[in-house]
Amino acid sequence: MIGSKLQRRSVRKDSLRIEALVVPPLENNVFIVYEDGSDEALVIDVAMGSSQILQRLKELGLRASLIVNTHGHTDHTVEDENLRNATGAKLAIHELDAYRLAVSDEAAVSLGISPRPIEPDIQLADGQELNIGQSTRLKVLHTPGHTEGSICLYEERTRQLFSGDTLFANGYGRVDGMGSDPKAMIRSLKKLLELSEDTDVYPGHGRFTTIGEERPWLEEMLSTKKGRT
Ligand SMILES: [Zn+2]
Ligand SMILES: [Zn+2]
Repeated sequence: MIGSKLQRRSVRKDSLRIEALVVPPLENNVFIVYEDGSDEALVIDVAMGSSQILQRLKELGLRASLIVNTHGHTDHTVEDENLRNATGAKLAIHELDAYRLAVSDEAAVSLGISPRPIEPDIQLADGQELNIGQSTRLKVLHTPGHTEGSICLYEERTRQLFSGDTLFANGYGRVDGMGSDPKAMIRSLKKLLELSEDTDVYPGHGRFTTIGEERPWLEEMLSTKKGRT
């Protein structure tokens, strides 16, 4: 329908497939990543999208083997347990954000939601690789700042970056919350700037972008911050 907001997008990069859905509570972007010729899928963040994700997995004939949280904020993790129970997928989060699955945070309070405490199956560390299908490898890039254990997932072969709440189109995640660290955010953004210009960026909220598109304001901001003590 003309004028209606597109809530789902399918991206194809070589044999890699990305299904992007926009779900509540805060217009979270959630992703199903899979490869042609394989029925195995990885889900990035769930937010309140567990039923939409399940439906889409079914339509595509996929089974989720792994759920990865880009970080532990409740708006991203609130329905992790629903999806884990429904699919039998393992749940993964960076080791430094794992505790967040068992505590309430600012997001939960402001949204008036209180999910049950849960435990991850897998605790991730920087440099670890998550394989899907024959040739898709998502590398864990530890990018603290928004939270201690925020990560981005980078697929090197096709240059796709899932940036969570670290990098957005024309902005970056808040660094004033519990466990935030503005200096760590600067280091993390510098790390992302090392990726090639044509890297596609899929943030946790808002429109998709590329490293090249974000480079001008990022470089300007980083050079100003460098001058400060
Ligand atoms: Zn967040
Ligand atoms: Zn968020």
